Order: sequence, then structure tokens, then C-alpha cells
Amino acid sequence: MIVLTNHEGGVGIDTTARDLAAGVGALDAVEAGVRMVEDDPSIRSVGYNSWPNILGQVELDAAVMDGATLRSGAIGGLIGFKNPVSVARAVMERLPHEILVGAGAARFASEIGAETAENLSEASRDTWQRGLKEWLSPRERQAFPDIALTALCQRATDPEYQKDTTVFLAIDGAGDMASAVSTSGWAWKYPGRLGDSPIIGAGSYADGAYGACACTHTGEMTIRAATSRSVVLYLKMGLTLEDALYEAGRDLKRLRGGLLRGVAIHAIDAKGAHRVASFGEAKGVEYWVWEDGMTHPERRVAIHLDV
Ligand code: ASP
Repeated sequence: MIVLTNHEGGVGIDTTARDLAAGVGALDAVEAGVRMVEDDPSIRSVGYNSWPNILGQVELDAAVMDGATLRSGAIGGLIGFKNPVSVARAVMERLPHEILVGAGAARFASEIGAETAENLSEASRDTWQRGLKEWLSPRERQAFPDIALTALCQRATDPEYQKDTTVFLAIDGAGDMASAVSTSGWAWKYPGRLGDSPIIGAGSYADGAYGACACTHTGEMTIRAATSRSVVLYLKMGLTLEDALYEAGRDLKRLRGGLLRGVAIHAIDAKGAHRVASFGEAKGVEYWVWEDGMTHPERRVAIHLDV
């Protein structure tokens, strides 16, 4: 077995690893790990107490993928629920669809009895309001939210750019593989903005025959380069993990225009080897791994891709 997660996932890796050791399947185990992070208010980029969009609404993105069936489930822009990863899982298991967004996602979450929550904490509301005070003219403040958000959104992304989607990849004792990811996306995003996390092939992908991959940081880049699917496809084409990540880094390097910042790529192959690499502005990225033979999770630093 192996569990690979990013820095924030440290909160849930014990749960996932303990579950796997007890014979729980990979999909259940990664979902359980992500839920731990979603429930932890000290993690500011996922679930409760995470960052709102420019209108002050916490819109959550999440996805799961089952490497045995290649079924996926994802939700985007979900407002008002506690564990988006479990709603994503229910999309996979209860619907003939792979992704729901916005009002439809919220309706579905209600329908399955998902626990509701106001994910905007007082601390996040204060930060959000401080930003608005700084960026809005007195006239805009008065008219808010009936003002143009396009320019405001550009100004607002810099000061608190958040980069920490929670990603979990695992292989269980039976050799099955799964991925799960969850995030509030970056602070002060334009309402309705989807990051890479709910987009299968961009923010995550799992194919038990070859490997699994999940990305953090700039979703705008991994969407354009289809990074997670690409890494798994490179593995299928016979590249080593190291070369697959290097090629994915070269794909990112070819992007021109748009939001170009950092990316962190987490990957495992079908044999249970792992590798985490960062690209661009993302440096010193930490992650956690727990594999057979370890008695506790180990925190490591990703290699930086020099492509
Ligand atoms: N990849 C996420 C997004 O673009 C950001 C993150 O990793 O927090 O929404």
C-alpha cells in the first residue's frame, strides 16, 4: 500500500494509512483522509474556514476517481456543504454523470442528505472585507456587489493567492488505486471560477493499470496542459515516473499568456513508486508519504523541475 498526499494532507494521512492497513479499499481510504482535512479549521484552503470568492461566498471544488473502473465524480462551485469530497463521491455512485456544478451540485447535495455548513468563518469574512476596503473606491463600496468584478478580481488575486488543494493518492492491499482532491480554490476568485480540482485529467486522474496523479497550485495551468491525465498517459507510454513528470513540466513550460505561476505534481505508478515535483514559482513544496515498511508518515520536499 501507499498513500501520497500534499502538505495539508498531513492532517488526514494517518486515517488513510490506518484504513488501508485494516483492509479498507483505496477509494474509501482517500475519501476519509480528505474529510479529515475538510473538517480541520486550521487548514485555510479546504472546507470550513477556507477562502471565499470575491462576493464572500465559499465555493468548493472536489473530485474522486476510482482507478479500477475509471469512474469519477466531481463537484464545482458548491456552496453550503461540509464535505464536498463525499458529495463528489456520491455523484460518481448515484448519477449517470461525472461532474455537477453550482446550483445543481447544491441541489444534489441536499437531495442525498449531505451535511450543510456555512463555510465562511468570521476570520475569513474579516480578511475578505479588509481586502474589499482596500480595493474598492467609496462609490464601489456603496454599490457592492452590483459593480463590475472583472477588474476587481485581477487586483484581488495577488495579496492572498492560495495554493493548497488537498490531494490524496493511494493503492490499497488489493492493488486498487484511487485519487481524491478538495479545495476552495484561490481567494477572491471570480464567482463561478472552477479550478483544476473538479476537472478530471487536469487536477487529478487515476488509472489502476498505470498510475495516478494530482496537482496543486495554479489550476489555470494544469487545465490547459491536462497535466494529471498527461502524466498517467506518459506512464502508459512507458516513461519512468521521473520522465513522466519532466514531460509534464515541459508541457507547462510551453504555455503562453494567462495566469502562469507555480504547479506541484504528485504521482504514483502502478507498482507503488511515487514522485512529487514542483514547477515555476512553486518551490520548497512539501508532501507526505506512507508506504509499506514505514511505521509513520514521512514529510519530504518535492524536487523542482528544471525543464
Ligand atoms: N489548484 C487549485 C485551484 O486552481 C489551487 C490550489 O491548489 O489550492 O483551484
